[in-house]
Amino acid sequence: MPEASKEDKRVTRDGLTLAKIIYFLLMPFRPNLLKTYMAVDRFVEVPIDQLKLDGIKGILIDADGTLGPHHARKFSSEVVAHINKMVDHGLKVAIYTNAFEDRFHQFKGINVVTNVLPKPDKRGFEKAMTDFLGLDDPSVVCMIGDNFLTDGGARLAGMHFVHIRPIRGDESFIHSFTRRLAFKFAQFYFPNSFP
Ligand SMILES: [Mg+2]
Repeated sequence: MPEASKEDKRVTRDGLTLAKIIYFLLMPFRPNLLKTYMAVDRFVEVPIDQLKLDGIKGILIDADGTLGPHHARKFSSEVVAHINKMVDHGLKVAIYTNAFEDRFHQFKGINVVTNVLPKPDKRGFEKAMTDFLGLDDPSVVCMIGDNFLTDGGARLAGMHFVHIRPIRGDESFIHSFTRRLAFKFAQFYFPNSFP
């Protein structure tokens, strides 16, 4: 029984939650939620020096579509090296995914956010910041992800958002459909934000 409810919880986190639906409906009317601090094609292109110059101290990173394809259990050495470089530069780093949280052993010493509300709920981002980055100021935190609908919820918490071009993979239809639509809204309001 506990196993079944754990599975249910995972499915619900990754699926269409109420927070996601509300956020989705709000999105076209609140362009501020769609503002990107930076947009790059690949995670490894996120310029660490620039983040430091801009006063960023903490980074939350999405996994699926950002660090690798959906449900990836093995990540490229390039990706691992880029995360290590962030840490070496004194940034606090944690992985924040709505999906399975037990597949990041390659990232030694990196916190994986667990037991918080799924993205895009503002409270999830706040707890990820305080409990997993050890920071208390959202204006020095950035979320790096491929999805305005989930990762973009960082904007609700007052964090910066870095958009990555999604890595193709085995993504559910509803996930990919809502992600694309949210991206269209962002492109509509901020056509010059994307490479
Ligand atoms: Mg993602």
